[in-house]
Amino acid sequence: MAVPIGKSLEKDQIMAAAARALGVPVKSVSSYRILRRSVDARGEILYRYRIAVYAAGEICDDFRPGEYRDVSSAEPVVIVGAGPAGMFAALKLLVLGLRPVILERGKDVHKRKYDIAALSREGTVDPDSNYCFGEGGAGTFSDGKLYTRSSKRGDIREVMYRLVEFGADPDILVDAHPHIGSDRLPAIVENIRNCITGHGGEYHFGTRITDIERRGDGSIAVKSMDGRVWTSRKVILATGHSARDIYELFSRKGWALEAKGFALGVRVEHPQSLINRIRYHGRYQPYMPVAEYSFVTQVEGRGVFSFCMCPGGILVPSPTSPGEVVLNGMSNSARNSRWANAGVVVSVEPEDFPEYSKYGPLALLEFQKNVERSMFGFTGSVKAPAQRMMDFCRRVPSSALPGTSYHPGAVPAPLHELLPESISLRLKYAFPQIGNRIMKGYYTNEALLLGVESRTSSPVRIPRDPDSLEYTGMSGLYPCGEGAGYSGGIVSSALDGINTAAAVAGSMGA
Ligand SMILES: Cc1cc2nc3c(=O)[nH]c(=O)nc-3n(C[C@H](O)[C@H](O)[C@H](O)COP(=O)(O)OP(=O)(O)OC[C@H]3O[C@@H](n4cnc5c(N)ncnc54)[C@H](O)[C@@H]3O)c2cc1C
Repeated sequence: MAVPIGKSLEKDQIMAAAARALGVPVKSVSSYRILRRSVDARGEILYRYRIAVYAAGEICDDFRPGEYRDVSSAEPVVIVGAGPAGMFAALKLLVLGLRPVILERGKDVHKRKYDIAALSREGTVDPDSNYCFGEGGAGTFSDGKLYTRSSKRGDIREVMYRLVEFGADPDILVDAHPHIGSDRLPAIVENIRNCITGHGGEYHFGTRITDIERRGDGSIAVKSMDGRVWTSRKVILATGHSARDIYELFSRKGWALEAKGFALGVRVEHPQSLINRIRYHGRYQPYMPVAEYSFVTQVEGRGVFSFCMCPGGILVPSPTSPGEVVLNGMSNSARNSRWANAGVVVSVEPEDFPEYSKYGPLALLEFQKNVERSMFGFTGSVKAPAQRMMDFCRRVPSSALPGTSYHPGAVPAPLHELLPESISLRLKYAFPQIGNRIMKGYYTNEALLLGVESRTSSPVRIPRDPDSLEYTGMSGLYPCGEGAGYSGGIVSSALDGINTAAAVAGSMGA
């Protein structure tokens, strides 16, 4: 069914339309469920609905994510990292009757806000509490987009239903492009923690894990920086793609790791009004959802694509150590800032940068670090090197920059030189192409490019057995989520957490 945006969808209207479509009397349709809602801006601007209808006695929705049990006296399973992978692994363990013990280097979601504010205002980076580290992980202060292409990995309803259970708007269950927003995510993350601790699980904040070892009795010991030790038969390692110290720990120990391709480029910021004009063909009205975009193209054998677009959002500094410049985007539930930003990135494979091959599996990690440091080297702070889009493509510096949502500020810079050449050249060809073929008006000097978008996914994989999900180098250790290289984004990482918890419980006979 299609309904103009701004008009409500009435129950009688749905029942009548369903009966007409099925050629049955209205009274034989007893209930319905909206499966999906998406914006259609091709002609009249509409919401298009996909709806399932049910006859009397049919069950509308039989999906049940499972009941939590009291696990106070159950066997513990240590989870390192309280991001989406760690939190959803913990919730699944509660259902399966095991006791999650979460060890998190950062602070709880409320204390974390102060460190994030200091990062934006003063440029000080706390290596344990920032946009990537702390309760809720990298997804907490984000746009909270919940798109995933990973339906092969499991039923995403388990993630979506849980998010609604903990406070997300039920619209996320039907929207084609659901999102939660940075203003709502902290409360959801806190509700998840209360559920876990309320059923007998544990959280330990300020607990950075610096060592992992096998004990003589077969258990695994994880040690924190301040000398505390936790042991359990099974450990889930869900430390995210920015936990470089974990990859370095594995490397020092001579444990198996694999280099993995990722993507690197810039954050692009346009006025949201321009994106609305382009996407709605000049017919945007304030009651409509602000416009999004995404694209993929190819330049010289490598993908160039938009990443993590934040309509009505802001740019944020997301380094995890001093001396780096890294940008990402976030937005509130209303998506009501003046800006639209997205990463526009080029895929990178280990063979693209042979000069880093001496670092073995950490080759692209070193490459990533170097680019982030060279951006910092230019500005001397978390301010971002920046250039107007057309100037970048013409390879001339911008004398003055347009306004930006990036609070620490932007510095005019020759980004075309600061970025690795193979990336800079592909972006130079891609931007006019996107403006010509995909979104007329996108290629403009009103758009600002800021460096660097480099944390798109992990440049390292921690290999695991495809069936047991255990680390190939140590039974009982389960690399999980984005840091392990098996997911990307909030939903797929949460799903990986659920799958990993199920594998752990299966191996323990729970
Ligand atoms: C600003 C921003 C915006 C984003 N926006 C979106 C979005 O809108 N939609 C989307 O799908 N994705 C988004 N992402 C990406 C998304 O957040 C990640 O894909 C997702 O959080 C990965 O989940 P994870 O649990 O695997 O890892 P993470 O979320 O990275 O969590 C890992 C956790 O482990 C902890 N940790 C790390 N090392 C240690 C250690 N040694 N000891 C103890 N704890 C440790 C960290 O503090 C962290 O809390 C965004 C990311 C950022 C930074």
